[in-house]
Amino acid sequence: MRRKVIGLLAVVLALAGVLGWRMRGGALPEPPFIITVQGMPAAQIRVNRPGQTLTVYDAARGRMTQMPLERYVLGAVAGEMPASYAPDALRAQAVASRTYALYLKAHGGCSAHPGADVCTDFSHCQAYLDVQERAQAWADCAEIYEQTLAQAVQDTENMVLTYDGALALALFHANAGGKTADSQEVFAQALPYLCAVDSDEPAQQTRLRFDRATLARALGTRETPQIESVSASGRAALIRAGDSVFTGAQLRRKLGLPSARFDIEETAEEVVFVCQGYGHGVGMSQQGAQTLAQQGWQWREILLYYYTGAQIADAADLTGDP
Ligand SMILES: [Zn+2]
Repeated sequence: MRRKVIGLLAVVLALAGVLGWRMRGGALPEPPFIITVQGMPAAQIRVNRPGQTLTVYDAARGRMTQMPLERYVLGAVAGEMPASYAPDALRAQAVASRTYALYLKAHGGCSAHPGADVCTDFSHCQAYLDVQERAQAWADCAEIYEQTLAQAVQDTENMVLTYDGALALALFHANAGGKTADSQEVFAQALPYLCAVDSDEPAQQTRLRFDRATLARALGTRETPQIESVSASGRAALIRAGDSVFTGAQLRRKLGLPSARFDIEETAEEVVFVCQGYGHGVGMSQQGAQTLAQQGWQWREILLYYYTGAQIADAADLTGDP
């Protein structure tokens, strides 16, 4: 109840501020500008420039919405990384999420929703939690997490990853299982700043069991899959099952495996995929970023470790950038 009253007050004050400025008809207000996250007055993002806006397709509600870039970044960090992570891991994630969204915007936007720069479907563009979803997900910690994430966004305002003066494709994943992957291992496109690096992170092993009939239906053969070759980063590169051959990424998609870093075990009744890590393995490992942040690495160091050879720049300084 108290939160509702404070929320209402914040909206009224925000409206009064906007109207006051409009009525004065004056110049743009002096920085810092404050982006109030509606209904959650604790989370105010102080930005030094009004900045860009994004057209975001809200996948849950099926509608387009326009919002300031930095507000979007807060929601994306909330959707993509546990808010309990160390501040420098959250700052690194803010830069990666911002870069990823601006990269999409600069390259035609979300391919599934024409007119949108980015969508909130985590399996398509990037996860995003709006303020209500965050309040629900974080429960009693909501206010402190709102402030923590707003700070991470503010500390990295407008910062993006670039390569050769253009926005980088800042891919990331949850856990690399000890080593990240070259981009061409997974996406068939070799990008110089997305190459395999060692990743110090907690082990994350998942055993996925398939009875033989289910696996035969999924793969179109009753033969047990065998790993024929392993990539330089230790992921299954080619897997043969009878006459069928799959790449690790294809098999991962087909069977819903958490990663392509797996071994195959079999018994008479079932085939077990023993997977290490979680995600495609390209770019920044989020749990690796958390490990480095806990060891005292700063967000810039974390990013330049995982995106080898990339630079960190102000989005406003990019020539030809939106
Ligand atoms: Zn999308």
